[in-house]
Amino acid sequence: ALEPWHRELRAQFPILRAAPGLAYLDSAATSQKPQAVLDAVQTYLTTANANAGRGSYPWANRTTALVEKARQQVGEALGDPCPDTSQVLLTSGATEALRTVARDWLADQLADGDEVVVPFADHQANITPWQEVRDLLARRGIHVRLRPMPYQSGSGDYDHAALAEAVTPRTRFVATTHVHHVYGNDMNVHRIRAAVGPDVPICLDASQSVGHQPIRLDTLDVDFAVFSGHKALALPGTGALWARQARGPALRPAGWAGTPNTVGAVSLSAALDWLRAADTARVHRWTRALTARLTDALSRLGSYQVLGCRTSLAAESTVQRRQSLVSFRHRAIPSGDLGFVLFDSGLMVRSDQHCQGGSGERTGSVRVSTHAYTSVDEIDRLVEALRALD
Ligand code: PMP
Repeated sequence: ALEPWHRELRAQFPILRAAPGLAYLDSAATSQKPQAVLDAVQTYLTTANANAGRGSYPWANRTTALVEKARQQVGEALGDPCPDTSQVLLTSGATEALRTVARDWLADQLADGDEVVVPFADHQANITPWQEVRDLLARRGIHVRLRPMPYQSGSGDYDHAALAEAVTPRTRFVATTHVHHVYGNDMNVHRIRAAVGPDVPICLDASQSVGHQPIRLDTLDVDFAVFSGHKALALPGTGALWARQARGPALRPAGWAGTPNTVGAVSLSAALDWLRAADTARVHRWTRALTARLTDALSRLGSYQVLGCRTSLAAESTVQRRQSLVSFRHRAIPSGDLGFVLFDSGLMVRSDQHCQGGSGERTGSVRVSTHAYTSVDEIDRLVEALRALD
């Protein structure tokens, strides 16, 4: 029953029709864009392009309203029950959003001897900003300690018991990830909150989950959430930062002093509309079924080692932890070479380090990542190519 639904959905991505011989399996790096997003951008640029937050003529007013609408939709898309645009900042991506939390909020909160928990095996964008705050404060004579987020060996999960022990009365902030960009695991925000207790602010990097699954910030008890719009079907140079109301005044809407990325906001708005109409819960079931199919196939081939969460869909009836991506290694072929070989079959995957932080995998891997438009056929083509190298 899902297949006709999916054919129709996939047909809305013109780039896929334009290149039928190629399979784009790198959606965790950036997503393809549906026609609705392209149309919204073109309509905006050909009917109402102006600057936002200034001007009193209709195009300027409409632009201001479109940017505001995008901020409102970000709150809604994150499951905030009463979204308020003052809680949302549009940014150029997750990286800028994390740096904004670090520079504009966290730096003011820390005193000498305070501690911050940093996930050193997650994306580099979720490591550098906290190091920069530490270094900035050190120059002012305030010494802050970065404590490594503990990981379980082998699975890529955080070690929640060790995290509970790593949290001290001096812990002021915990940086975490929702879905890991190499392991594909859902990192279990509820268990992170339980481990750190109710009072320590948590910042969630939701770059690999927004657009892939319904996000419920009304039930995920975090204080900040960031994501990347370009991985969620919007244009490059888009992303957002959401802050819980109590932290809201810290957000400085820099866009209103300079010119905001109006076209990006229009694209984000259209992308979030598209995802809602497509039904993010259905997209979630679809991409998890694809990665389960791939993981199961890899487990039947002798040459591949899957990183991160290794259980299959069938084994995880209640909590499905592997999300939209799978990383793996071949026992003999270096990952960079495997990427080249796969492209000979038209398969576009990501290989090597994937911007993972310093304590992550040193030997690299091939990462296959999916989105709403990825087809079963593309996964099966990949499996065939991998089988030929087994
Ligand atoms: N965090 C994670 C988990 C990511 O996967 C990425 C992108 N690879 C980023 C942050 C950076 O996002 P952006 O490109 O929007 O700055």
